[in-house]
Amino acid sequence: MQFSSRRKKFTTNSQTELYSHPLQFYGQPPLENISLTEFETFAVERLKLLKTIENLGVSYVKLSDQYIKKLEVESKALNFLYRPEADDRKPQSGPTEQEKRRKDHISHFILRLAYCQTEDLRRWFIQQEVDLFRYRFNDLDPKQKLELLHRNNLQYDTISVEEKKALHDKLVNSSYAVSGITVEDQDFYKVPFQDALDLVRSRKVYLKAGYVYIPHQDIVTIVLNDFRTRLSKALALTARSLPAVHSDERLQPLLNHLSHAYVGQDYSIQKNVGKISLEQIDSLSGKSFPLCMRQVHQSLRENHHLRHGGRMQYGLFLKGIGLSLEQALQFWRSEFIKGKVDSDKFDKAYAYSIRHMFGKEGKRTDYTPYSCMKVILSNAPSQGDHHGCPFRHSDPELLKQKLQVYKVSPSGIIQILELVKGMHYQLACQKYFELTHNVEEASFSLNHPNQYFIESQKVLGGGRDIKRETDVPQKPQENSTKGPSAAPEAAANTQDVAEMTEELDSFFQDA
Ligand code: SF4
Repeated sequence: MQFSSRRKKFTTNSQTELYSHPLQFYGQPPLENISLTEFETFAVERLKLLKTIENLGVSYVKLSDQYIKKLEVESKALNFLYRPEADDRKPQSGPTEQEKRRKDHISHFILRLAYCQTEDLRRWFIQQEVDLFRYRFNDLDPKQKLELLHRNNLQYDTISVEEKKALHDKLVNSSYAVSGITVEDQDFYKVPFQDALDLVRSRKVYLKAGYVYIPHQDIVTIVLNDFRTRLSKALALTARSLPAVHSDERLQPLLNHLSHAYVGQDYSIQKNVGKISLEQIDSLSGKSFPLCMRQVHQSLRENHHLRHGGRMQYGLFLKGIGLSLEQALQFWRSEFIKGKVDSDKFDKAYAYSIRHMFGKEGKRTDYTPYSCMKVILSNAPSQGDHHGCPFRHSDPELLKQKLQVYKVSPSGIIQILELVKGMHYQLACQKYFELTHNVEEASFSLNHPNQYFIESQKVLGGGRDIKRETDVPQKPQENSTKGPSAAPEAAANTQDVAEMTEELDSFFQDA
C-alpha cells in the first residue's frame, strides 16, 4: 500500500520528526509503503479502540478513574499508546513507543478514508477521536502539553507574573476551581475569546477586552475545539478525494466494510442449528429478540409479507439463531401464503432466494447475519419497510410508543431516548436489554443482533443453551464451512463479505 511515492530518506526524516511527540494533530498523512495486511489490522484495531471509547463514554464519567483505567487496558491490549513515554526505550516485549506512534498515525488516516463518506459517519468518528485525544492529552506532562500547542501553531502566550498579580482577584473569582493559592502556581493563557467560546458560555473564565485568561488546566477545552475543527475540515477534504480512492479496487471494498464494520464474531456458524422450533419463534421474539427483529417479526405476522430489506435482515438473523434451511422455507412459506402469495408463486419467486441465503444456490456462499453497524448505516428503511434499527430509524415519539407497548418503565424510556438523542444507538439498545432483562449492567458490548439474542438466552436460561421444544427433522448444513472469526480474519475476508452481500442483495429484489 502506497501513501506517497516520495523518497525513502525523506520519509525516514519526516517520520522521526512526526513521531517525536507522543501526540499529534494528524496534520500530515503517512508517507510510506505498508502492506495490505497491516492496513487492515491497523484499521480494525483502531476501530475497536474507538468503539471502546464510545462505550466507556456512556457508562462512565469521562476521565474518571474507571474510565481511564479501562481505556488504558484496552489501549495496551491493542498496542496503542496508553502512557506516553519521553524516550523510545525498547520494551521487553511488544512494539516500541515509535512503533505505537506510527500505528496510531496510520490507523487514524485509514479510518478517515472510511469515515468521511457520510455525515453520520463523520460525526461518530470525530466524537470518538476527540475523546481519545482528550484522554491522551490529559496524560501528557505540562512540558509536553506546551510543546504540542507550539508545534501546532496554538501560540497562546502565558501572562507575566506581574499581570497575574494585578488580575489576581479577578482570576480567582471567575475561574473555575482556581483558588488564591493555585493561581500563583499555574500558568494562565491569554486567548482570543472566539477560540474559547465554550468556556465563555459556561462563564468559567475571566474575560477582558476580547481576551480570556485561561488556567492551564482548562486549556484542554481550547485544544479540543481546535482538534475538532481541524479534523472536521480534514474529513470534508478527504471526502472530495473519495472518487480517486474508490477507483482502487483493493481499497474500495475494504473501506466500505470498515465503515460498516463490526469487529467481533460474525455469527455465521450455526452451532444451534435445529435447536429452535418454529413454534418457539413467537415467544422468543418477545423475550430475546432485539427491537429491530421484534418489529420485523411482528410486521411479518401482521401483513404476511416483508419487502426485501426486511427479508434480508430477518432471514439472516433467523439463520444465525439456528433455523435450518428446511425450517426457514417452512416458516416463510406458511406466512406468505396466508397473504397474497400462493404456494406456486412462493416457490418461484421466494424459495430460490432463501436457498441462496443458506448457500444452496449461486456461488454457494455461507452468508453472515447483519451486524448492528450494517443495519444502522446501510439501506435505511423507506415507507412500507419494516427493517432497520428502531433506535436509529424510528421517529423518537414512535420509538417511545413502542417502548411503552413493550412495558419499558417511564424512567427507562427517558434514559433510552437520551442515548438515542446522543446518537448512541447500540448503547440505547443495550439499555433496552438491561431494562427488559432486569440486569443492572450488561456484561457485553452490543455489536450484533445475534449477540443480543445469545446474551438474552444466557440471562433467561441461566447460561444454558437454547432448549428445543419440538423435534423437527434436520439436515446438516453442507455449506457452513466458516468458524467464528476473529477480527483480523474478518478483515482479511473483507472483499468476500462485500461481494457476497451485494450478490445476495440482488437476489432479494422485489419484482
Ligand atoms: Fe438491532 Fe443492533 Fe439496533 Fe439493537 S442496536 S435494534 S440489535 S440493529
